[in-house]
Amino acid sequence: MSHTIERESAHTSGLYQKRDIVLVRGLGAVVWDDAGREYIDCVGGQGIANLGHGNMAVADALAQQARTLASCTELFYNDRRAELYERLAALLPASLDRIFLCSSGTEAVEGALKFARLATKRHGVVATMRGFHGKTMGALSATWGPEYRELFGPLLEGFTHIPFNRVEALDAAITTDTSAFITELVQGEGGVRPATKEFIAEAARLCRARGAILIIDEVQTGFGRTGTMFALEQFGVEPDILCLAKAIAGGMPMGAIAFSRALGDLPKRSHSTTFGGNPLACAASIATLGEHARLKLAEAARARGAQLHAGLLAISSPKIREVRGLGLLQGIELKENAGPTLKALQERGVLALGAGPTVVRYLPPLVISAVQVDAVIEATRSALSA
Ligand SMILES: *Cc1c(COP(=O)(O)O)cnc(C)c1O
Repeated sequence: MSHTIERESAHTSGLYQKRDIVLVRGLGAVVWDDAGREYIDCVGGQGIANLGHGNMAVADALAQQARTLASCTELFYNDRRAELYERLAALLPASLDRIFLCSSGTEAVEGALKFARLATKRHGVVATMRGFHGKTMGALSATWGPEYRELFGPLLEGFTHIPFNRVEALDAAITTDTSAFITELVQGEGGVRPATKEFIAEAARLCRARGAILIIDEVQTGFGRTGTMFALEQFGVEPDILCLAKAIAGGMPMGAIAFSRALGDLPKRSHSTTFGGNPLACAASIATLGEHARLKLAEAARARGAQLHAGLLAISSPKIREVRGLGLLQGIELKENAGPTLKALQERGVLALGAGPTVVRYLPPLVISAVQVDAVIEATRSALSA
């Protein structure tokens, strides 16, 4: 066994199911292990590494900011934070004109749920079956997976889960006691399942009619992943609150809650976080957004995503139940457990991810080339016939 694996194993929490390789370096869509083996990285930091590994603009911005001012809490104003607010606001629907910065996806969801309670003075929350919103207690209450929830009850009161994409279920669930309806636009963890436009439109309509807050969780689908900067552009929906994280800062831990001024003023000090809006993460995020524009990454995700989707669809294997996804968030649902296929892919130099027990999920950096996408398709064809 590699020395690194032994050393980690001595102190690891034991909570993560690890694969037996040690990754030490990355460039673009490729990573290398400590034995020098090369992999096409369709794990992409579980959706963080949209820019690809080793991005120089982010590295330079981080180094520069680390030498200038790394820490500055929101007790004070800061030039980097002001710039990031402007850059994000310019990309978002005009109604999402306020931004709260934090450090992770689950933290963005926690804040969103609190803001919805503040704004509505109600506490009911409607979420979706197979939805994933994080694992801290509040977000976990919105997450569906029984395997994540059952060990930790009782969770927060007032949460219900309706079948995803079942338009008829919305009317009974979203009532005048509902503070928020929360959903992803493509369920990631839950098996790479795109929402239907009808489901999202009807949810938005009912939330508006009944005074509930619509929270869209784009922690995984944001920042070009689905072929537009945010997936909401493809759904024509303007949520009251939008949760962002993962790829927002080119690999630095950062989350954001974008919300509408129409929610009303939030009581001072009712929510905060010490790392929120630190200049280091802001500088990384500003550089990340610059690279998105320079490299036209949303367009790239659309083109490479279409290529990957078509290539996976063309694989004829009795193991495949369905191929689905949006942009470069693609999945193959198998008729069997995905574990052996993930292992076979790794042996063929492709790292991919599960999404529930039977789905193989692809979340490559958006800089992945057409040649690399073809290699991923070929490796998948070979892994499925193994
Ligand atoms: C990953 C994810 C989260 C949780 O983000 P963390 O940074 O892991 O806490 C929340 N929502 C969605 C849709 C996610 O994919």
